[in-house]
Amino acid sequence: MHPIEWKITAQDGEARTGILRTRRSIIETPVFMPVGTQGALKGVRFEWLENEHDARIILGNTYHLFLRPGVETIRKLGGLHKFSTWDRSYLTDSGGFQVFSLTDLRKLSEDGVEFRSHLDGSKHFLSPEVSMEVQAALDSEIAMVFDECPPGDAGFDKTRESLELTARWAKRSKDRFDELQDNGFLSEPPAIAGGSMRPSLKPNTIDIDLQPHDTASGSDRTQNVKLSGKQALFGIIQGAGHLDLRLESLEKTVNIGFDGYAIGGLSVGEEKSVMYEVLEYIAPKMPQDAPRYLMGVGTPEDLIEGVARGVDMFDCVMPTRNGRTGSAFTSTGKINIRNAKHSQDESPLDADCPCSVCRRYSRAYLRHLYQAGEMNAAIMISHHNLAFFLDTMRAVRQSIKFGGFSRFREEFLYKLGDGDRSDV
Ligand SMILES: [Zn+2]
Repeated sequence: MHPIEWKITAQDGEARTGILRTRRSIIETPVFMPVGTQGALKGVRFEWLENEHDARIILGNTYHLFLRPGVETIRKLGGLHKFSTWDRSYLTDSGGFQVFSLTDLRKLSEDGVEFRSHLDGSKHFLSPEVSMEVQAALDSEIAMVFDECPPGDAGFDKTRESLELTARWAKRSKDRFDELQDNGFLSEPPAIAGGSMRPSLKPNTIDIDLQPHDTASGSDRTQNVKLSGKQALFGIIQGAGHLDLRLESLEKTVNIGFDGYAIGGLSVGEEKSVMYEVLEYIAPKMPQDAPRYLMGVGTPEDLIEGVARGVDMFDCVMPTRNGRTGSAFTSTGKINIRNAKHSQDESPLDADCPCSVCRRYSRAYLRHLYQAGEMNAAIMISHHNLAFFLDTMRAVRQSIKFGGFSRFREEFLYKLGDGDRSDV
């Protein structure tokens, strides 16, 4: 039995739709995963995520939760799901990215990384083993291996050194992960104990019925395939913009063997063309029968371009981070609500968006709230932005299922370019 089940349901060029089942939810891919850094989405309550956005999986950040409130507190309170009340899937990162990007004071060795907390300067240590232990205590559905994240502009030799260390850490991550899963390290058995899956969603609430070319295998997707009830572990492919190093990293990672594979080290300041080139080269070479996850990406354009190159999963803080600064994503490009031209504009943020903010509130009102320093401005723009990202992915999935992805991509990007860029 496997911890997750993954099936491709339709393919259009390199783009593909799939169903990813975890012990807690059924996730249609390609999927955008909202980021709940501290066990919460900034400005968006879980009620909205469940009832309006219908997000099936969100991210939790190991680094932040490790430092505050700390693993022991979360473990005592029954794991991250019980503590936060988010009953659908969590993917936790390994903490590596934050240690390498947020923390100035760190000491890297073969063993792991010693660093000082950005909160109070206290000393901590993260290693592949510790990261697996923390993620087991958090009880996420998908855990990530602990990797080194070199700066995007690292040269060839530095990048190669780094990916070799990452490969050794990936093996150590896997070994410790397997031990933890086998020995029941968790504070309490996961919800699935006993072998019965507990999907938090009714099967009829997902759009798998809408697939036109899927009659033969359509029925078995609705059956409950038995999952192991354990966590899944994804490996991470590094190698910056060097294609041969990407391939080397892919081979090393696949040799260890994981439930899914992520592409790390992109969207860290390199040119867009580099990211697209790496994706185009590496994604089709990744295992066909496992989900592919592009970490920390990206803008709506990036999501479309990633899907076109065969990526299944994405995450990014952009919808809520931009929401807090008054920047809204719309189907005709980004707008900034601070701009004076919105001061008497009675239209919604996006006339094509069915979200509850766009159905009710005008740009003029949201601008007024923003200018007045009302927290509802950030909350409502974040809410809309999340709706826009998740709706975009729904539309992407539909277009792949009906064989019209390239046309969708062309029209979507064309329309996006129509937005008033000078606004931002
Ligand atoms: Zn909206």
